[in-house]
Amino acid sequence: MKTSGARYRLMALKLNPCPKFKPLAGRLAGLALIGALALLAIGGDVRAQLAVASDFRLGIHAQKTRLVIELSAPVDYRAFALASPDRIVIDLPEIDWRMRPGSVRRAEGLVHGFRFGLVRPGTSRVVLDLKRPGYIKGAFLLPPRDGAMYRFVLDIAPGRQTLGKSIASAPAVRRPKPAPKARPAPQTKVSISQPRLRFPSPSRKPYLGSTKRRVVVIDPGHGGIDPGATGQSGIVEKNITLAAAHAIKARLVRTGRYKVLLTRDRDMFIQLRNRVAFARDKGAELFISLHADTIRNKNVRGLSVYTLSERASDKEAGELAERENKADLIAGIDLSSQAPGVTNILIDLAQRESMNESARAAGFLVTELKRVTRLLRNTHRFAGFAVLKAPDVPSLLIEMGFLSNARDERSLRSAKYRRRLAGAVTKGIDRFFARVEQADRE
Ligand SMILES: [Zn+2]
Repeated sequence: MKTSGARYRLMALKLNPCPKFKPLAGRLAGLALIGALALLAIGGDVRAQLAVASDFRLGIHAQKTRLVIELSAPVDYRAFALASPDRIVIDLPEIDWRMRPGSVRRAEGLVHGFRFGLVRPGTSRVVLDLKRPGYIKGAFLLPPRDGAMYRFVLDIAPGRQTLGKSIASAPAVRRPKPAPKARPAPQTKVSISQPRLRFPSPSRKPYLGSTKRRVVVIDPGHGGIDPGATGQSGIVEKNITLAAAHAIKARLVRTGRYKVLLTRDRDMFIQLRNRVAFARDKGAELFISLHADTIRNKNVRGLSVYTLSERASDKEAGELAERENKADLIAGIDLSSQAPGVTNILIDLAQRESMNESARAAGFLVTELKRVTRLLRNTHRFAGFAVLKAPDVPSLLIEMGFLSNARDERSLRSAKYRRRLAGAVTKGIDRFFARVEQADRE
């Protein structure tokens, strides 16, 4: 995603308040619970009962900007304002977004950007980015008239927003929820037990022989309301990362040596900290986050691998981390009300050990990947990616290429190319664990 400015830098600083180690366990339990809620999957039969949105438009009226969403059924809603930057967030039940072509109108009036999508199972979210402070003047649902659809209407007027207050659907428009309870998919169910703190790094635990499968967590970047970067053909990063994650998982599983888990296996938003919490909760011995970047210079192409560092290896790496760390902001998560979590544990000894392991893993991956694909110069780089901050799990992030480059984009859209990448990643992971086992025996 392309956004710039000191404002976001400010947000990034806010994400890292001074950590206190003691209340960590409680926080982690809380995080695990959030993770569990975030990862419940919805059965296919529920889909058919979702309200369908077919039109999304913004218009300027006297003293206000009006959002109208046309819906096939009445819905409950809750809307609230966020500051730094100024945004309006609207939560709706899970919506089937089936817009008529050309029906998503451009940003207008106070709104300079917007996005919508799944923010957690059962909840679809709309985020409106405001040009200047605005408040929710009113929100209501209009019944169908003259063969039209239901219309959800929200008015925004210039002025100071009251933070922490939300406007929700009135009881009168509420109706019994038709959607049955979402069924948790067993493969993505998260235990809400407290994640184990494993010190030192898991790679140091005794060698147990080849019968034990290593746990690898693959993290498809972005998802749901956060599409990530957009390619020239309109393809979005969140879909590329999910497809690549499936390819890598399939290849790793085929070796019989790995238990592979994905942080998401559908088009759903997951907070950065919950991706980290998931890996720790599952006892991951390696965490790989997948992404694809865009850049103004369309000639730039090639894959790169990132690991965590207090200091960015170069300006580009630092800026990239800043872009990737904005995912929660893009999804309209109210970061001001959240207790600092696992991503805020600063670099202690265990993390330092993990950082060394991560760098080693990156080295093995780069060696294998350069046989099958084009690499960016200085392929292994360092920066402060929030998603790589598990203190005890070797973690790396692969930017698989640039969606702004026509050739990279074409490659990443190809299943055959993704399988080739998956093969190289698997070989790199094999070499990493072979080395770990060797070290443990010594
Ligand atoms: Zn990304």
